[in-house]
Amino acid sequence: MNYRHSFHAGNFADLVKHALVLWLLERRQAGGPVAVIDTHAGAGVYDLTGDATRSKEAEAGVARLMAAADRPPLIEALAREVERLNPNGGANLYPGSPLLIAGRLRPDDRYVGFELNPPVLAMLEEALEPFDQAVGMGGDGYDQARSWADRALGAFVLIDPPFERPDDYLRAADTAAAIVRADPRATVAVWTPLKDLETFDGFLRRLDQAGIKRALVAEARMRPLTNPMKMNGCAVVVLNPPTGAEAAASEICGWVAGRLGDAGARAEVWMTGEGG
Ligand code: SAM
Repeated sequence: MNYRHSFHAGNFADLVKHALVLWLLERRQAGGPVAVIDTHAGAGVYDLTGDATRSKEAEAGVARLMAAADRPPLIEALAREVERLNPNGGANLYPGSPLLIAGRLRPDDRYVGFELNPPVLAMLEEALEPFDQAVGMGGDGYDQARSWADRALGAFVLIDPPFERPDDYLRAADTAAAIVRADPRATVAVWTPLKDLETFDGFLRRLDQAGIKRALVAEARMRPLTNPMKMNGCAVVVLNPPTGAEAAASEICGWVAGRLGDAGARAEVWMTGEGG
């Protein structure tokens, strides 16, 4: 297990994922108490003065977000969370999905995040210490999510693997599909990188084969997908998206691709099953 999210924290892909997660959480909360399951939680909070300075991904992501003057509301919501974590200004600390979600829980909401890497799990537990309704646990997030979703009907599930293992696409698709088949009220968001279109199409085909005929696909393409060795963009695929998700994803992906992408960057937001 070599993946370290600390190199990538605060990059364009985190901005897309986290802005959309904040919106999805708010929408789910509008319908009553929510149980959030985060299959791949990570450390919870990232110090961008460490590994991230070497990758420069945060410099091209959250640093530009915080310097931007033209933030639309759903992007602004994420910027406010970054400000909350950095009360003295700047963006030395960046919130991961556990902290973003835990900070928004109401008394009847719950969060559980799974993390397989023991040192990262220890950081997660420390980050979640102040939040009574949030817990970090060890274990395989795919396996755990199914049994936890069974017990928490109407859950909001985030599946955010590192995609360092060849079976991550298959397991992510199968887990997402199994959860919404078992509980049609659950909403599942799966983050994936966009390297080449065949890999991504294979992921969507797997969802289709698993019985998911309609899902929201929110893509931020930061450059043409010509070099499959690079992360040329990212996508969040949402099963059972709440009303308004297409517009929300367009606002987020459009801003990130348009403001942070290369020439030729663009957002593609569409529903599967509509010939998209
Ligand atoms: N969701 C986090 C966020 O948005 O802040 C980032 C998660 S990071 C992309 C993926 C994390 O999953 C890594 O910390 C890695 O150690 C962990 N991981 C890898 N395989 C796992 C598995 N099968 N179950 C749970 N965690 C896993």
